[in-house]
Amino acid sequence: SVLSEPQQLDPSKLKIRLTENPKTVDPPEKLKFGQNFTDHMLVVSYDPVSGWSDPEIKPYEPLILDPACSVLHYCTTIFEGMKAYIGPDGKPRLFRPQMNMRRMEGSVARLALPPIDGDAILELIKRFVNIEKRWIPNAPDYSLYLRPTVIGTRPMLGVHASDHCTFFLIASPCGPYFPNGLRPVSLLGVSDHVRAWPGGTGGQKLGLNYAPGFLPQKAAAARGYEQVLWLFGDERRVTEAGAMNLFVVVQREDGAGHDVLTAPLDGTILPGVTRNSCLALAADARFAEDAGLGRLYVKEEAYTMRDLVSWARAGRLSEVFCVGTAAVVCAVNRIGWPEGLKELGEEPADAPPKPAPGEGVTEDGMKCGFDGTDIFV
Ligand code: PMP
Repeated sequence: SVLSEPQQLDPSKLKIRLTENPKTVDPPEKLKFGQNFTDHMLVVSYDPVSGWSDPEIKPYEPLILDPACSVLHYCTTIFEGMKAYIGPDGKPRLFRPQMNMRRMEGSVARLALPPIDGDAILELIKRFVNIEKRWIPNAPDYSLYLRPTVIGTRPMLGVHASDHCTFFLIASPCGPYFPNGLRPVSLLGVSDHVRAWPGGTGGQKLGLNYAPGFLPQKAAAARGYEQVLWLFGDERRVTEAGAMNLFVVVQREDGAGHDVLTAPLDGTILPGVTRNSCLALAADARFAEDAGLGRLYVKEEAYTMRDLVSWARAGRLSEVFCVGTAAVVCAVNRIGWPEGLKELGEEPADAPPKPAPGEGVTEDGMKCGFDGTDIFV
């Protein structure tokens, strides 16, 4: 037999096997995020001898994995989150998918998995979305959430990069991410657990970044907050909220316009597609005009909890909002910081917090300030 070169990832080799038992599509109002999946999945695998398999779209089904495989022991898994919408012309649209593909390539590289061609994968994703078109809800705020995933499948226990991998795509029709729809959410500032750090992996979309957040998330929920606000360092830098980037809008000191501020991409922040889109929109003068906010000054700069408190007290904290593919844009109305007074050196930690006098009022007449445990926006 002739030894052949390992095969490239080739979208033209796609094999399609459609389900014989199509599921019924739930009406939009019954959909909860990530709980219902479409009829099919897309799968393609790599091993160092044969290269990439022929890509396959086939009925949604369990994966079969060797129990020794890398992902089950060393968390060699990366994922993306992107959405397909139905356009006004009835055709499916992906939202800036090239950005997801570049980020996926970076995540794969960070885990030393076999390199993957994002452009070839995107071609396959488009084929998949067309096949699953009936699953894209045609209603405002609804979409088909796509979850491209790569796992390391090297079936050996040696602590070593995985030279085998499987790419798969599953899809879930969804509506608003938070059960309360588009109402504002509350955040709890957390500094005893750290999501990401300089030299760490927070700037990539690795599965291993997320599991350690579940315990603090549960603790925050038990205290009545919907999401964790990840703080970093002794100076309590504000980074991200849950699995979303965070923006704050601060009225400028001279009252002429607003700063639109988000943490810089220093390796501890996930470079969100929605973040990038918000920065671009806010930098567009036409958008500021429409929003009636005066001139907007877009800044990717570090800021701290101390800054948030002082802006809130001065009545200048106009907006705080979380952004991400799943949540889209979601307003924040309250940020818990129970250690705040102590960290600000203002009162002993055991003194009962009382509302501070002289707190500010936002432009729209809403009270904003810091009552000793919470920042109100
Ligand atoms: N931060 C983290 C930690 C995330 O997991 C996500 C979701 N991908 C985001 C921010 C938002 O990124 P995007 O806008 O690309 O969904």
